[in-house]
Amino acid sequence: MGKVSIGLRGWRFEEEEIFTDDEEFKPLEEIPEDPRQRLLRLSRLVEQPCDACYLIHGEADKQRCNPAAYVYGEPMDEIVLCADHEPDFVYWYQNAGGSDLRGDPEFAAAFHQWFADDNRAPEGFGGVDHVETDPEALPDLPTPEEIHDRLEEDYEPREIDLREYIDEPDEPPAEDRVDDEEFDDLDLDTEYPTGE
Ligand SMILES: [Zn+2]
Repeated sequence: MGKVSIGLRGWRFEEEEIFTDDEEFKPLEEIPEDPRQRLLRLSRLVEQPCDACYLIHGEADKQRCNPAAYVYGEPMDEIVLCADHEPDFVYWYQNAGGSDLRGDPEFAAAFHQWFADDNRAPEGFGGVDHVETDPEALPDLPTPEEIHDRLEEDYEPREIDLREYIDEPDEPPAEDRVDDEEFDDLDLDTEYPTGE
């Protein structure tokens, strides 16, 4: 077994941590904390628009945003991107100081600021080659809708408990986190002003 992406490319999971030998999703209780937290976040992130598109179009034109296809960063401090904007993120990460902020609570905010300041990858910058790791050996991965339905199905009765759980990651430190409610209502234009 190897590493796989679920729903969005970027975050990768050890297959054996999330699938049973029968290639079914394990019950969430049996999944280690870090991948479990990522799966729970993914079930929400798959419904979000690309951050960069959202910065361009805003809430009023939200329907023009491409859906998220990639996720980077840590749970609760993610950057979600469409295929068109992934190269901009990769360029920022590799060439504009992004990698220095890896794991920093300001990771996502710093990219949003950079993008909002009209910075982009140069023409022709290719981004990352996402190599498929021997697709024949992988179990059939659920679609984003399927994982979402699955998580809802299993956990809807305990949704409030899960939200509490999501609000209590070990890191980043509590004072630096964006809490869940704030995240839902996040207005990128307000949260990340374009001027100093
Ligand atoms: Zn986009």
